[in-house]
Amino acid sequence: MKPIPIHAFNPGPYTGAGNWTYLIRGRVTTLIDAGTGEPQHLEALEQALDGATLAQVLVTHGHTDHASGVMALAAKFPGVRFLKMPWPERDGRWPAPWEPLSEGSAITAGDDTLTAVHTPGHAPDHLCFWHAESRTLFCGDLAQKGTTIYIPPNLQGDLMAYLTSLERVLALQPARLLPAHGPVIDDPERVLRGYIEHRGEREAQIIALLRGGERTPEAMVEHLYRGLKETLVPMARESVLAHLLKLEREGRARRSAASAPGASAPKGDAAHPLDAAREEHAWHIIEP
Ligand SMILES: [Zn+2]
Repeated sequence: MKPIPIHAFNPGPYTGAGNWTYLIRGRVTTLIDAGTGEPQHLEALEQALDGATLAQVLVTHGHTDHASGVMALAAKFPGVRFLKMPWPERDGRWPAPWEPLSEGSAITAGDDTLTAVHTPGHAPDHLCFWHAESRTLFCGDLAQKGTTIYIPPNLQGDLMAYLTSLERVLALQPARLLPAHGPVIDDPERVLRGYIEHRGEREAQIIALLRGGERTPEAMVEHLYRGLKETLVPMARESVLAHLLKLEREGRARRSAASAPGASAPKGDAAHPLDAAREEHAWHIIEP
């Protein structure tokens, strides 16, 4: 299998240099990830197709930079199919005739077979696509060289699920990862183990801050991300919250009712992660 990387031409504060999509030519010509519909992406794709018909687009997850290009692709390549794991709360944003994929789905791509690997954490619908013969994993936003992956509880991100997904992918023993951002990862084990280690270190720091009396993600961000650009603070806050929610699920931390000035009291089931994402809480460590 010789996937052709095609840049999506969508640089930005959240996408870095922009996304990679991958074209697999053959009997069932397949594009992995849809990009955002930039005209330059469509042109580059048309060039790489070199007269072949685009049969299907496999989308790793429903985030804008991976999925929003489906309308432009549908307009340019009539008859193309779109496949992803359903994310009911979000898929309606990208009006395409989505066909559902699930864990273990076998998909003919080019002249080969890919297997869908459900890898939630960054997003609940996140799929990687595994080509067993070449031990290649199209890894979407599971990994990116030189940086950690954003886990947003606000968008159903889940750190515990992410760590499990990393272990699952490690068990596949991939030879290379083709990510949606950044260069090819040819040392997957080192990168994935590095992520697990990093999260362990970050968790230890957060536990220390809780013990030291810090009560809110905002206060912790100031300790953990010194000199962070103002525009990136909300993302850092989400990342800290992801750790707190993991600790809560493990029975190692708890949150009490609103304490921050001006914060509204939690309504209904305060244990729901989305409430935690929206509401202000004071967090406490539970000592064994
Ligand atoms: Zn994403």
